[in-house]
Amino acid sequence: MKAVVVEELGPPEVMQVREVPRPQPGPGEVRLRVEAVGINFADVLAVAGEYLTRTKVPYTPGMEFAGIVDALGEGVTGVEVGGRVASLGGRGGLAEYALSPAAALIPVPPSFSGAQAAAFPVSYFTAYHGLKTLGHGREGEWVLVQAAAGALGTASIQLAKALGMRIVAMASTEEKLGIARDLGADVTLLQDDPERVQKVRDAAGGGGVPLILEVVGGRRFQESLDMAANRGRVIVIGNASREQASLRPVELMKRNLTVTGLWLTSLMGDREATREAAQALTPLVASGQVTPQVGPTYGLAESARAFRDILDRKTTGKVIIEP
Ligand code: NDP
Repeated sequence: MKAVVVEELGPPEVMQVREVPRPQPGPGEVRLRVEAVGINFADVLAVAGEYLTRTKVPYTPGMEFAGIVDALGEGVTGVEVGGRVASLGGRGGLAEYALSPAAALIPVPPSFSGAQAAAFPVSYFTAYHGLKTLGHGREGEWVLVQAAAGALGTASIQLAKALGMRIVAMASTEEKLGIARDLGADVTLLQDDPERVQKVRDAAGGGGVPLILEVVGGRRFQESLDMAANRGRVIVIGNASREQASLRPVELMKRNLTVTGLWLTSLMGDREATREAAQALTPLVASGQVTPQVGPTYGLAESARAFRDILDRKTTGKVIIEP
């Protein structure tokens, strides 16, 4: 079968498509015929060797994928061969067939295509945990969504809207802001607007925004603190700038701010939090209030270009690769 292989970490161009043996599921594992892989900014960082965990090579990237169950390893029960599932298996998705621990499988609503199933879990569960589990967002409250036309950004806007929150969306181009408005953002601002701090504060009534989903990091992290209302909650979800940020705890004291980190991988291990998120998301999916935003779609041989386009901020919605 064909698979993307990374032998040395580096820029997207280190990824190569190779012919490799079809993997055999071990105990507790399931093999999927991969239909679609959702590409996250984290995949780009992992190939670069800049992710939160160390990337061991050689490896096949692709942490979030969907497909048809094709074979079951020893001891796997409750999974149907021939059914469509999504997986947060951690790696290996960029291939015609991929293994997933049965425990990492996520049921897929029957209405979802393979691409929609691959576009859903990471972005929507992260958005839920940012807005509710850790962010404690309330109906009528303002939230700032950065990189608003991206995979997490579009999911966050849809979900915040469905939860009755009011949204300030930031992104780097007018076209991206249009996408945010179409999804329900109340106020949109260019990320490089010279008056952005004051404008965000004004949007939320002059006192700043009570909840911020912070994904850019670096110098922008301080700006997020400046945009936050007193007693505001800043949820640190990403560092797309790949720059270092600094934090002065005294500033948090002075304005009673809360800064909370969010990493989906560790939250997925929290059964109660995952169950609550799934329970909240299921009816919103069924009613169509949240629908996965499938972005540009590439073939396996175009994987390096897909990763490069994410780095160059050319994409909107969830980038999909179909092996
Ligand atoms: P996106 O589809 O949002 O793509 C990344 C976006 O980041 C770009 O489109 C761009 O939007 C923005 N960006 C801002 N600054 C830069 C920069 N210097 N270089 C490149 N992009 C930049 O990706 P994801 O939805 O996968 O992820 C969004 C963020 O959320 C990332 O930081 C990611 O690591 C994080 N994340 C974290 C999770 C967790 O568990 N902690 C889970 C999911 C996502 P624009 O051009 O509008 O600025």
